[in-house]
Amino acid sequence: MELSRILIGAMRFKDRPAAVATVRAAIDAGFNYIDCSPCYCYRSEEENSERWVGEAINHPDYRDRVMVSAKCSPGNGGWELGEFSKAKGFGVRTADQLRQVFDQSRNRIGVDRFDYYHLWTTHTKEQLDETLKPGGWYEGLRSVKDKWGRLGITTHADGGTIISFLESGKFEIVTIPFNVVNTTRREVVDYCNKKGIVVIAMNPFAGGFLATHERLRDLSLRYLLSLEGVHPLIGFSSVSEVDYAAKILDEMPAGGYNADEILDEVNDLINTDEPRCTACGYCQPCPEGINVGACLSYYNIYKYMHMAEAKEAFNKKQWEDGLRLDRCKYCGTCKLRCPNHLDVVAIIKDARRMMYEKKS
Ligand code: SF4
Ligand code: SF4
Repeated sequence: MELSRILIGAMRFKDRPAAVATVRAAIDAGFNYIDCSPCYCYRSEEENSERWVGEAINHPDYRDRVMVSAKCSPGNGGWELGEFSKAKGFGVRTADQLRQVFDQSRNRIGVDRFDYYHLWTTHTKEQLDETLKPGGWYEGLRSVKDKWGRLGITTHADGGTIISFLESGKFEIVTIPFNVVNTTRREVVDYCNKKGIVVIAMNPFAGGFLATHERLRDLSLRYLLSLEGVHPLIGFSSVSEVDYAAKILDEMPAGGYNADEILDEVNDLINTDEPRCTACGYCQPCPEGINVGACLSYYNIYKYMHMAEAKEAFNKKQWEDGLRLDRCKYCGTCKLRCPNHLDVVAIIKDARRMMYEKKS
């Protein structure tokens, strides 16, 4: 089955009935891939996203129309290696732990095999090396080779690091944060297009805040659909969100959406003459692991469009190491690399003041 253009994320369901209705509506809309994780919506062994997805898809009208992806991580969600948590799929660092979590997901979702399996939240070389060690994650997955189809990786690393991961030749699909205001990983998209690797764009609405602005919401989805080989992964929480995405897809002109026109319109909405970061990503990597362009994408929308939601989303996502702008040591490396000749250090100082101050 060929991958649909829009894919189903399983991380934002309110409860079991909403999950079942939403997943079935998404499959009815033609979205044929669902991205599961042991930790999504986890409340108990019986009440979690994997169980809810299982109820939605294990029905004669649905099972044959959707491909299932599952995943687990050697890490803790951030840059570190994790402690083993079978229930939530973190800290999976031995072949035996992999098999435990793999079978747990199969049992919860109620499937014999996965179409895709992802090495999840793997952002550093240390984490990837841990995965590939003898007796580790990868060996465990190879030992159940008859129960999964294609291998992918989900990562928030910078573009250069992601490409080095992909050069291992092990991954046929990669899931990265990518959206209309944060294109810092654009080089990965270009690399994957050349190599025939599928790109899944997670975080299409930047933690949801882009969806709070009617026009930005349209532009966000249209932008991702304008890029060849990119599949937006949307964490649907309701049937109306599915209907909205299906409408944007239906409205796509025969020649596709035009990326440059969309980016120009976003630029007009931001509407400032001040020199600003364009989230190009060329200043990476930062020695402190900060994704400068990603951080400043939230700051730009907050500062120039006065959207409090951007600041809220930024602060909610401080579990993501790349967004920890408070760890900046003002070393100036990013400033030296910026092709826009921005005074990046001064901008970061202002961004830290605005984005972390308590009053908005
Ligand atoms: S100035 Fe800050 S963000 Fe820029 S490279 Fe140095 S530590 Fe990283
Ligand atoms: S600071 Fe400069 S190099 Fe870094 S992402 Fe922004 S525009 Fe690009």
